[in-house]
Amino acid sequence: MQNRTKKQAKKIKPSGSKNSTTSEVGKKRTKKRTAKKFFITTSIPYANAAPHVGHALEFVQADVMARRARQEGKQVFFLTGVDEHGDKINRVAAQSGLAAKDYVDETSKKFKALKKTLDISYDDFIRTTDKKKHWPGAYKLFGELQKKGDIYKKDYDGLYCVGCEKFLTEKDLEGGLCPLHNKAPERISEENYFFRLSRYASKVRSAITSGKLEIIPETRKNEVLAFIDEGLEDVSFTRSKRSVPWGIPVKGTDQVMYVWCDALSNYISAIGYGRDTKNFNKWWPAETQLVGKDIFRFHAIYWPAMLISAGLPLPKRLLIHGFVTIDGQKISKSIGNVISPEEAAEKFGRDALRYYLLREIPSDGDGDFSFEKLATRYQDDLAKGLGNFASRILNMAAGEIFPEKISSSKPVRDEIKRAEARVKKHFDEFRLNDAVSAIFDLIKFGDAYINDKKPWQNKSHKVLADLVAMLHEVAYLIEPFMPETSKKIILAMNIKGGKMKPKKIAPLFPRIEKE
Ligand SMILES: [Zn+2]
Repeated sequence: MQNRTKKQAKKIKPSGSKNSTTSEVGKKRTKKRTAKKFFITTSIPYANAAPHVGHALEFVQADVMARRARQEGKQVFFLTGVDEHGDKINRVAAQSGLAAKDYVDETSKKFKALKKTLDISYDDFIRTTDKKKHWPGAYKLFGELQKKGDIYKKDYDGLYCVGCEKFLTEKDLEGGLCPLHNKAPERISEENYFFRLSRYASKVRSAITSGKLEIIPETRKNEVLAFIDEGLEDVSFTRSKRSVPWGIPVKGTDQVMYVWCDALSNYISAIGYGRDTKNFNKWWPAETQLVGKDIFRFHAIYWPAMLISAGLPLPKRLLIHGFVTIDGQKISKSIGNVISPEEAAEKFGRDALRYYLLREIPSDGDGDFSFEKLATRYQDDLAKGLGNFASRILNMAAGEIFPEKISSSKPVRDEIKRAEARVKKHFDEFRLNDAVSAIFDLIKFGDAYINDKKPWQNKSHKVLADLVAMLHEVAYLIEPFMPETSKKIILAMNIKGGKMKPKKIAPLFPRIEKE
């Protein structure tokens, strides 16, 4: 255990130019290397159960943005991790006869494994139980807020839902029950520390309206502003050890930190807040923080308020994604429709699963997952679409030699430019699904071009060069979405010494055997 902690605490190595996951084509494109940094975070999922395809969505979305930033030559730091404290984990661990720490050790391994399952290029994985790496940052943040006079003691008497792990108000209840868990909350009375959230309402509001803290999509931004305008109350910032024994203890008290300071602080603790100021200053503020719609209020209100109180800059951009449903239903253990990313990736390949999540689910909204729809996407878009497009071109062009930088004919050049512009725009809007569509429109154009020019009849080198240029472009644009596939295409294009000598390729997306 000592060893692992030491390993985790080792110096953070940023991924940038050196990153091996950036395709050849990506490297070649970015001649002018800017020193711009790009720090991107996912939220840290609660480690009370193994990850399901809903979790996969956020990991994959963040990964695409990180890979795209690397392609653009930015110095990228991509952070993810797990939230491991709290009442719920304590109870689940006890039910399975494990110590809480042993329980989260197991669960966090499963989240960490998504790196392989989904080809996630994260640079660091933070665990909130990590005393060396995470706790110093959580303590420092708590201390700064205290110094500001923003932490005070108060008797708290409230209705607590164990499922939600939070206090609910009468307003939140339906028929006396938590509407999410259909259970009556417990009445808890204890002395807690509170954070003066109310003091920061107008500052947070103006950060959002001025665009200093950008919130995408717009509908979510409006929702947050409306929520602030209803008035913000101070929030309970600690719990007594008696009621929650599993958390970061507040020194000199009988309290542990509540989720706000314990979990939200991961975004700064991981990069060195409270232990490595130089590294912290290098990376903070984050360029992009990606979170789900269920927790975006905390990230758009509590988190900025805490940062302002601590005298720290705000993240630049908050992206809010929706949820994955399974056959139209919420993913839930009690419904029994939990699908693991491993299962889906095993059946169809990890690039196909990535493709599905990125294309079928609108980035900023909800979308549905089913194996049937995944099979259809696989067959229509990947086997018959991208895979066939690559095979056709490589088979026809095999044996010919092209310059690496092909000057293609005007209609092809225009179409490539159009695709590039659309992809860029949709990345900026956090519409990754539209970005993928734009790439597939280029494939469609290319297929029509082949059918129109019939290069198998006249073997026109000029037409083949146009096709190879398009495939090269597709491989480049698709790399953040489907890194493995992109790599295979680039390899088959056989680029050496400024020349391309394409080789034939095995089917990229072979037919899936019916069960
Ligand atoms: Zn609840």
